[in-house]
Amino acid sequence: MLLFTPGPTPTPESIRQAMATPTLHHRTKEFESIFAKARLGLQTMLNMEEVLMLASSGTGAMEASVLQFCHSKLLSISCGKFGQRWGKIALANNLPHTELVKEWDTPISAQEVLEALQSDPSIDTLALQVCESAGGLRLPLEQIAREVKAYRQDIIIIADAITAMGVEPLDTTHIDVLIGGSQKAFMLPPGMSIIGLSKRALEVLEARPTHRGGLYFSFLTELKNQRKNTTAWTAPTTLITGLVRYFEIVQALASSNLDSALESSAQELDSSLLAQGFLRAYTHTRAISLATREAISALGLSLYPKSPALAMSAIAHTDSAKIRQRMKALGVNVAAGQDHIKDSIFRINHMGLIHIYEASYAINALELSLDTLGLRSFDGAGNASFFGALKKQEIL
Ligand SMILES: *Cc1c(COP(=O)(O)O)cnc(C)c1O
Repeated sequence: MLLFTPGPTPTPESIRQAMATPTLHHRTKEFESIFAKARLGLQTMLNMEEVLMLASSGTGAMEASVLQFCHSKLLSISCGKFGQRWGKIALANNLPHTELVKEWDTPISAQEVLEALQSDPSIDTLALQVCESAGGLRLPLEQIAREVKAYRQDIIIIADAITAMGVEPLDTTHIDVLIGGSQKAFMLPPGMSIIGLSKRALEVLEARPTHRGGLYFSFLTELKNQRKNTTAWTAPTTLITGLVRYFEIVQALASSNLDSALESSAQELDSSLLAQGFLRAYTHTRAISLATREAISALGLSLYPKSPALAMSAIAHTDSAKIRQRMKALGVNVAAGQDHIKDSIFRINHMGLIHIYEASYAINALELSLDTLGLRSFDGAGNASFFGALKKQEIL
């Protein structure tokens, strides 16, 4: 079965092999050297002042980030189920909170965020998604961050980039906290979150060492340890080993195709080669994502969000549940929606380094499913336009 859900994503064989080695003790030179590689990889990838790896799913990092930085009041943006989570975090921790809520297909605008900040000077932290996975929606994060910082430099901006990190290049100039998760574009099993911190975030942490984060999620304690290539508590050693293998694969992409990169041998990480590899990875993901959109429209289907993200294609269809079931019978697992749009959309993942032949088969399975359900006769239009688009983007 091809796993085409927007998290978890499939883990390539060579990453699984890397993680199948005997468990290392985390307080050893051997593990410290692996940890140092993981840090270098993340620093290159995120281009931020500091990085942290935490043993938690993405939500753990979201909660930890809010609790480290929010001292007076949180403003959160809810354009879907993950955006709602900020509010739940505030509520669970008894934190003063205000929220801007949009329909799940509609991005918030910078103007709306600014108005909310202007009307409440007690807000010190803004939390939002880069890509809201509930509806496959891309928020105008960079513009919001730029305008918020121009209005009030001291607001801490926390961005959940769990379905954007590793998908597209992100301008982190105005972002203080950038959150990622192992089970999305990193192609690792779930269980580790990743955090990028700005210079300003570090200053705030150091100036206000008291926070609501409790003992386990203390960024200051982690920083002290992780700068020395160790962790405060027992590290998720297996996932960190897998993360290093992911960076090796991406680095190999700088000079080879995807198949060879996936099978490349272990190598020293080099920042500039790795950065080149990431550009290739982003181009690859973007090409598949845009070509899939063309195929979707050639099949007479339409996307759900008004501003679609590259990470996934969320397709609006009243027969979504049946289409998913048919696709599954053809060996392709795509995700349903959630909550009130559970059966009115389905989502095809583009995160991670996906083979063109797999993405192409997923489109074929979609077109065949429409045919079986009597919705549209099969004529190969999906793949014709998918490959046409890839050729135009000079990917083939
Ligand atoms: C997957 C995802 C998360 C993380 O959820 P966990 O289940 O805690 O890993 C958070 N935000 C977004 C946008 C996601 O797609």
